Amino acid sequence: MALNVVMMGAPGAGKGTQAEHFAHERGIPKISTGDILREAVQAGTPHGLRLKAVMDTGELIGDDLIIDIATERLARPDALKGFVLDGFPRTLAQARALDEILVGRGPLVVVDIVVPDHEVMRRLGVRRICADCGATPDAFDGSPSSSAGVGRPDPQADACRRCGGRLVQRSDDNEEVVRERLKVYARDTRPIVEYYSGRPTFRTVNGVQAPDRVARDLAEAIESAAVVESAGAVRHPVEHPL
Ligand code: AMP
Repeated sequence: MALNVVMMGAPGAGKGTQAEHFAHERGIPKISTGDILREAVQAGTPHGLRLKAVMDTGELIGDDLIIDIATERLARPDALKGFVLDGFPRTLAQARALDEILVGRGPLVVVDIVVPDHEVMRRLGVRRICADCGATPDAFDGSPSSSAGVGRPDPQADACRRCGGRLVQRSDDNEEVVRERLKVYARDTRPIVEYYSGRPTFRTVNGVQAPDRVARDLAEAIESAAVVESAGAVRHPVEHPL
């Protein structure tokens, strides 16, 4: 059965890093709407520049465009055996659209990685990404930064380990924009946690731990949710015909 996972959490909670790790372990794609948008921005087209202008304020891109992007990506063959979504859905309209996309495609497991705002501010202040390929320094590589928190760059590294590119701060990781992103998260995305939290396949994980511990808790949470779902016959007993 397909393993469909949504990774939730505030900006800087470690969603991207953990989604990448889990997806790699399970051989399913990690799908990040933020990455797809940044690729469009890098292409430098007028459309890409309009996207960048919105992203640089910390506000969200419109639902219609994002839902189209997600629908197209989730329809590709590699996503049919499962996926890990990072950064989608971010609004109730997107969450409802996802439910429709997934009709007949197996259960949806939702994991919320919980990290307090002050920790988010600290992490994003030091986060670096590769200016060329967009990769973030790997939090699972055993470098000294690994035990210090998800997404912290290796202080010794000044180049991307994947492509050798220059590590820079993301344009939306400066303090003012991060505050705005946290406000947007509370306003638009927190309600989705409530939308999902009544489901038997919803789980929370403490994100203020070393990355490998978060990864272990996540894997356990996802396993336990998937087991509940596969016992769906118990939750949704078939009415006796008589
Ligand atoms: P992320 O890399 O997930 O933090 O996304 C970076 C930025 O891309 C966000 O601050 C939004 O401006 C935009 N974005 C990414 N995903 C979405 C989404 N699902 N809905 C609306 N905007 C998004």
